[in-house]
Amino acid sequence: MTRTRVAHILKTGQPETTVDVRGWVRTKRESKQDFAFLELNDGSCMKNLQVVVDARIPDYSTLIKQIQTGASVAVIGTIKESLGKGQRVEVHAQSLKVLGTADPATYPLQKKGHSFEFLREKAHLRPRTNTFGAIARVRNALCAAIHNFFQEREFLYVQTPIITTSDCEGAGQVFQVTTLDLARLQQSKGPLDYSQDFFGKKAGLTVSGQLEGEIFATAVGDVYTFGPTFRAENSNTTRHLAEFWMVEPEMPFYELEENMDLAESFVRSIIKDVMNKCSEDLEFFNERIEPTLLASLQNIVENDFIRLTYTEAIKILEESGQKFEFPIAWGHDMQSEHERYLTEKHFKQPVILTDYPRAIKSFYMRCNEDGKTVRAMDVLVPRIGEIIGGSQREERHDVLIERMKESGLVPEDYWWYLELRQYGTVPHSGFGLGLERTVQLVTGMTNIRDCIPFPRTPKSADF
Ligand code: ATP
Ligand code: MN
Repeated sequence: MTRTRVAHILKTGQPETTVDVRGWVRTKRESKQDFAFLELNDGSCMKNLQVVVDARIPDYSTLIKQIQTGASVAVIGTIKESLGKGQRVEVHAQSLKVLGTADPATYPLQKKGHSFEFLREKAHLRPRTNTFGAIARVRNALCAAIHNFFQEREFLYVQTPIITTSDCEGAGQVFQVTTLDLARLQQSKGPLDYSQDFFGKKAGLTVSGQLEGEIFATAVGDVYTFGPTFRAENSNTTRHLAEFWMVEPEMPFYELEENMDLAESFVRSIIKDVMNKCSEDLEFFNERIEPTLLASLQNIVENDFIRLTYTEAIKILEESGQKFEFPIAWGHDMQSEHERYLTEKHFKQPVILTDYPRAIKSFYMRCNEDGKTVRAMDVLVPRIGEIIGGSQREERHDVLIERMKESGLVPEDYWWYLELRQYGTVPHSGFGLGLERTVQLVTGMTNIRDCIPFPRTPKSADF
């Protein structure tokens, strides 16, 4: 007999059929009238399956004594219509096997309602809680929705390297990858000789798959990458991880307008999919985590995003009369508090900001005629701030070289990137969406460390 998932039994299980169901006991109640109730969860859905164990089954009292919160069991039983409230059906056990016990004196999840901070220290057990089970299902549904969105539009899924020798942003936020003996190097004097290193030159973990994405976009058409991304920024915020997942579509022949249209329908489409597939989980988040969650997601799905330029947004912020922790003026990078003011207070909707000052954006963004701004676009959403960063790419060889120099980069280091502009260059655009920030948006969880199974942040990479 094959195992049936709890989700299937609860949704479509037919009374009087026999099932094999296995999972972890959330609670046990013993009744005076010679039977016990087990609340069984196998992670397939939020709800538990009620298992009724009759005292007449063999070894009843020994088995029931062994079963405590956290124990794993295998049950063969019959589906019955449930007389109790809260569930359509339950299972009456014919046989019950304890696969593993959990000592109540030491089991960390013995009690309910642990703080998220506590659960971060128990990353090996937190998926067994309601909240983290739900986050895992939502994250999975988001990933499937992301692939569906692009596959339906005939984008090619391209895998870009995790180890790279090109630093996309030119900033010092790269984790170095080396096999050099650091302990020995510490004692020797003189400059480092990277020709002795594994790759023969300085290498690091990727901060973005974009540059390599552009190679394929200008050859096979619309593409997307979806993989782990690393940033060694020492920023201890609720929105930054040292290791996160990014989705990066790259489209030839797209200008900024089309890029924004795609980003907007993308965000809307994946949220819609998750709302359909994980409605029970989202209701849980709405009830327990963020009471405005469902309303805010509905708002995102139903309304067009507001579009305005960075310059217009700065004017709104300056005239807002709002006291910000970081003062804002034209030329400054926007902080999360500014982004949230725009989306939560001013527009009460997602916003796409375009045409940022060239001095604060990356070298590859296309320069506007005004000489001051670039064709950047950031998608900002309530509760999070920036969820997508993108741009039309600079396709003009000479302008790109000039911008590299202006950004302190050595054009020769990017010779292959420049050759894309030398041979058959085309206008093209793309963007990057952070998966964990999207999980934050869809679940209402306030800390990004709870939106990835194993968070990596400064001073923390356990498990
Ligand atoms: P921020 O200004 O918020 O730090 P960024 O401008 O450095 O972000 P981009 O380089 O534009 O980020 O990356 C594209 C997207 O990747 C962001 O919009 C965000 O959703 C996500 N992202 C960037 N950095 C991180 C991080 N450290 N942890 C989690 N997600 C991130
Ligand atoms: Mn950005």
